[in-house]
Amino acid sequence: MKSVIFIAPPAAGKGTQSKRLQDLGYNHIATGDMLREEIKSGSLLGKEIDKLISSGSLVSDEIVFNLIKNKINSDKPFILDGFPRTMEQALLLDKLFKELNINNYEVIYLDISLEEAMKRALGRLTCSCGETYNIYIEGFKPKNENICDKCGKVLVKRSDDNEESFKVRFETFLRSTKPIKEYYEKKNKLHCIDTTLDYDIITDRIKEILK
Ligand code: AMP
Repeated sequence: MKSVIFIAPPAAGKGTQSKRLQDLGYNHIATGDMLREEIKSGSLLGKEIDKLISSGSLVSDEIVFNLIKNKINSDKPFILDGFPRTMEQALLLDKLFKELNINNYEVIYLDISLEEAMKRALGRLTCSCGETYNIYIEGFKPKNENICDKCGKVLVKRSDDNEESFKVRFETFLRSTKPIKEYYEKKNKLHCIDTTLDYDIITDRIKEILK
């Protein structure tokens, strides 16, 4: 199994697809989750990160790279979910891959329009146990309103899933990932998948690419 770098606008479903791959034995490295953990810890760094994330901005390349660099190794295939988000991060990652002799990976871009992504983001609810739900998508609604099916805790909305900050995040994403997409395309690593397809079909396409 090849490792995978997911590049996807917010709310394109990379979290859902990553979870499905995790069940196949992948090591899931999600920068957004790691940053939210740091916020939860209440540290000074966490407070700084909170301000940036809530306003829809990116956290610095250095902070994020430091969080992920020790999680990547050549022993276990990994999913990079949310990294790289800037060209600088892509170059740092290349350097690390070279050091670790890693080349068995593919880059998957999950394509989605702003309108569809906004709808998904506004309906998204998460649980502190890691489960995610969506009140606008069939098959992703919680069985009982606002309650996690798995652990029974009350579901919450992410602070950056509001209309204003979502639009900023989406546009920041498109701007900063355009050169990254081109970079991986030149390396013959890039695969684009249309996310209006059914979730199961998307999973099958991903598995086919990573075979
Ligand atoms: P996500 O859960 O991937 O949508 O990430 C949530 C937020 O965390 C983003 O909007 C950024 O503010 C921050 N973030 C996540 N990954 C990165 C990254 N690789 N570089 C900079 N900021 C990041």
